[in-house]
Amino acid sequence: MSTVNTMPNPTVENLVIIGSGPAGYTAAIYAGRANLKPVVFEGFEMGGLPGGQLMTTTEVENFPGFPQGITGPELMDNMKAQAQRWGAELYTEDVTSVDLSQRPFIVRSQDREIKTHSIVIATGATAKRLGLPSEHQFWSRGISACAICDGATPIFHGAELAVIGAGDSAAEESIYLTKYGSKVNLLVRSDKMRASKAMQDRVLSNPKIQVHWHTEAVDIFGDGHMEGVKVRNNQTGAESEIHAKGLFYAVGHSPNTALFKGQLELDEVGYIVTKNNSVETSVEGVFASGDVQDHEFRQAITAAGTGCMAAMLAERWLSAKNLITEFHHQSATAVNELAPQPAKKTEAEAEAGFNLQATCHEGGYALRKLFHESDRLIIVKYISPGCGPCHTLKPILNKVVDEFEGKIHFVEIDIDQDRDIAENANIIGTPTIQFFKDKELLKEVKGVKQKSEYRQIIESNL
Ligand SMILES: Cc1cc2nc3c(=O)[nH]c(=O)nc-3n(C[C@H](O)[C@H](O)[C@H](O)COP(=O)(O)OP(=O)(O)OC[C@H]3O[C@@H](n4cnc5c(N)ncnc54)[C@H](O)[C@@H]3O)c2cc1C
Repeated sequence: MSTVNTMPNPTVENLVIIGSGPAGYTAAIYAGRANLKPVVFEGFEMGGLPGGQLMTTTEVENFPGFPQGITGPELMDNMKAQAQRWGAELYTEDVTSVDLSQRPFIVRSQDREIKTHSIVIATGATAKRLGLPSEHQFWSRGISACAICDGATPIFHGAELAVIGAGDSAAEESIYLTKYGSKVNLLVRSDKMRASKAMQDRVLSNPKIQVHWHTEAVDIFGDGHMEGVKVRNNQTGAESEIHAKGLFYAVGHSPNTALFKGQLELDEVGYIVTKNNSVETSVEGVFASGDVQDHEFRQAITAAGTGCMAAMLAERWLSAKNLITEFHHQSATAVNELAPQPAKKTEAEAEAGFNLQATCHEGGYALRKLFHESDRLIIVKYISPGCGPCHTLKPILNKVVDEFEGKIHFVEIDIDQDRDIAENANIIGTPTIQFFKDKELLKEVKGVKQKSEYRQIIESNL
């Protein structure tokens, strides 16, 4: 029998969920509805983005319930809102260690240590790199692991681009990049692609994509920014150069299981071994769901399905061991932060709506006005449509900006709508934040960082 406890902070949690992809959020929804008040570590940077792999994709066409498709970030936003609605306690933090050798288990992040009776692991998988000799030098200076985040960058407009890979991601990224590049070179190691037949057909029939079969990248060349890829034909051994301003990796993923090595049974590749037709791991009370234990299907729906199984088995296990502390909560109405993007304002509309005293602004008109008239620190956030990391950054940066209300100016620039501004600012990838004071660029920060990092830059430049 479970006990009913209304204390908000028990010393031992019922369930900690590690990861916030489809598996983690689904486990959180089910555990929340079972009154377990799960604690969810959404992750931050160690194993991909909060929201997981779908934060790096555009349309998801095969998740049931969305006949017109849905963008990856929007789907994940909905899952998150649903988990919150059912009382899940979310922390946008990486788990840095777990101790499964004692009960209750211990889960640690940089900011907290939590004791818990059960754990659902949903840490998914991370995009692989190739380890080319000059990869580090040209990373974010032409090389990217996320076409959706970086493809709209002005430097790639009308330029020749390259993609490495042969699966669905490589196919999707190549097709997406034809929106921006003059031509996309797809480098495929063998004589066939692994992508679904439908995706292959779309690639092979696209006149802007050239597939280079039996082709491996050897290195990158360029002067500051990348100018091309040195390649080798693995049949003939012949080396040649493909000129491209952008190179997008789509070479697969590795399971995020470093935390569990030596504590849970893993297979030879590193996937968590689960019992047949179950999500039980080699340690009782620890369940694994999604891509971290699935090397066969690796789909959002299978991840969500196993997340559901993990939460239900965790509840059964806690109940059988008489360990449950039940929480009853009022379900709040979910707020979806990903509202549809408004159309770009005309210059006249932007002018009419501009207020120099306001802290937050958007668009090129506001930036130009502030640049010339503001004596405050100006923070410019460059984003692009459908960019998952931009979406992750939004609530993090908004919180920091709120703390400095009236003392700073904050402008959001969509690089797809304000291309000239992004080009002048040399933006290569989103999200990028630039800090200006007295018309001078003080600092540039790429990607998503902790609140403390933005706060520290603002405080030292007010
Ligand atoms: C470009 C692309 C397009 C895709 N398109 C589709 C599609 O159209 N349809 C489809 O069904 N599938 C698609 N997939 C596959 C789908 O995204 C994955 O199968 C699914 O996201 C797996 O979900 P998951 O919850 O297991 O893990 P992931 O989505 O990988 O999420 C893992 C989570 O764990 C977190 N994490 C990792 N390490 C830690 C840590 N130490 N501490 C805390 N948190 C941590 C990460 O931050 C992340 O939140 C696509 C994948 C890619 C890359």
